[in-house]
Amino acid sequence: MTLHLCRTCGTQYPDSPAPPAACPICEDERQYVPESGQAWLTLDELRRSHRAVITPVEPGLHQVEVEPHFAIGERAFLIPLPGGGVLMWDCVALIDDAVVAAIRALGGLRGIAISHPHYYTTMVEWAQEFGCPVHLHADDQEWVQRPDPVVRFWSGETLALGDGLTMIRCGGHFAGASVLHWAAGAEGRGVLFSGDTIQGLPDRRWVSFMYSYPNLIPLPARAVRGIADAVAPYAFDRLYGAFAGRWVPQDAAGAVQRSAERYIRAIQGG
Ligand SMILES: [Zn+2]
Ligand SMILES: [Zn+2]
Repeated sequence: MTLHLCRTCGTQYPDSPAPPAACPICEDERQYVPESGQAWLTLDELRRSHRAVITPVEPGLHQVEVEPHFAIGERAFLIPLPGGGVLMWDCVALIDDAVVAAIRALGGLRGIAISHPHYYTTMVEWAQEFGCPVHLHADDQEWVQRPDPVVRFWSGETLALGDGLTMIRCGGHFAGASVLHWAAGAEGRGVLFSGDTIQGLPDRRWVSFMYSYPNLIPLPARAVRGIADAVAPYAFDRLYGAFAGRWVPQDAAGAVQRSAERYIRAIQGG
């Protein structure tokens, strides 16, 4: 078995002796092929050069990061479930024996929910290891590079996962771009895991929205309004974005609405 991973985005492709001709996710205008060209590696090669690190974030909540930096520098979250085990929000490319053992010590993965295709990475490996489903929005189905029965597509505007966890389709960055609401997070004040559907910023009081982050392509006003409206019914005090340090510690629901207004003013002028 040789399942190649794209070095730039971490996406894993189906078994084939030779690497694919190209990575459609990186060829897309929301990503990029680096100046050095399209490059591939295997999961075993990644395991030799990198490690997955699990750290606590707030009571009961952990994050998973890959060190040193790999692909887009993604992180995943492990959200505790009242009945035991965790839900993984988003995904990282590196899965090895050490991180699997650490997650089993937390009760194991009961499901995986992913915001958008830049996080699909090795989702099938993770789901097969833990015997759990992966929840993806059906509007992004065309971007799945390694189809597998573990993947469950949902459609419409929300998906209730139980235990106060709700996937909310926001659109914008991708047609099916979603966020995850965790009602019990932040000591019961509510948490929104936003991927880069809603991007946390260094100042931690504002957020932003883009069609492409690396290529700096903004979203139209109607898309930004759509994102803000999609999350408006939900109470959340804290927001965790895609990358380390990108979060809004408090009044995050207000920050999303204020940031949408600021963004729309900026692109419309006046
Ligand atoms: Zn790629
Ligand atoms: Zn993205």
